[in-house]
Amino acid sequence: MTTRIRTAIIAGNWKMHYGPEQAANFAGEIVPELGQLVSQHGGIMCILCPPAISLAAVRKVLDTHPVSRLELGAQNMYFEEMGAFTGEISPTMVREWCSTVILGHSERRSYFGETDELVNKKAQAALHHGLRPIICIGERLEQYEAGETEQVIRSQVQHSLANFSEHQVHNVVVAYEPIWAIGTGKAATADGAEKVIALIRQLFGDMYGGEAATALRILYGGSVTSANISEFMALADIDGALVGGASIKHDFVEIVRNSITTITM
Ligand code: PEP
Repeated sequence: MTTRIRTAIIAGNWKMHYGPEQAANFAGEIVPELGQLVSQHGGIMCILCPPAISLAAVRKVLDTHPVSRLELGAQNMYFEEMGAFTGEISPTMVREWCSTVILGHSERRSYFGETDELVNKKAQAALHHGLRPIICIGERLEQYEAGETEQVIRSQVQHSLANFSEHQVHNVVVAYEPIWAIGTGKAATADGAEKVIALIRQLFGDMYGGEAATALRILYGGSVTSANISEFMALADIDGALVGGASIKHDFVEIVRNSITTITM
């Protein structure tokens, strides 16, 4: 059995799929099974992250199957609490329904111009409001091919994960998502992901100390399916997965099931 010192997380990023009605239907299909799975194994947590407009609908479904460690997350938020920021949602709004917020996803960075500095401001606001940020980092294909992964990750960690207070840092989750693996069907190898994850943990330790680094959950993301999740979960330093495409299908339940099987083997 893999010895695990951190609760694993399987988070589903639904991206821009499922409005309130479809989201409620899909959540109604998967939540009973997910609830049963996570309640049978204390070492895993599952987080559903639908579009902002569908959070209420999924919250309702979750409330009819209240299970601890089956949680709701947003895909993004702004760092200000309120004000004239048309189209944005604030940390306090997210906190009403959610435990978690995904921040700095590569699609936010590439299509909406989010920088490490902005992601860091959002992460600080999330922590301040008691939210668990899942902060995404990862290198682009050309950076990977040029052998620049280490330097890209180093810079993203130093800038996106800066200035967290000592008492909030334990709530941080990082998702290592090589951009070339997102939505391409070409996942990283588990060994390759583990090497980068070890680097992230070491850099985090340099910033916040060994205890914080040991407590830090680092997920892998990029073309995870029920067919390959076990390879990642078999490695004790990989604390779970951020799942995109497969999270809007029933396969997500199988990903959670296979994760549990792997960590209890
Ligand atoms: C993601 O969007 O975070 C992601 C990992 O997507 P996919 O699983 O589809 O590669």
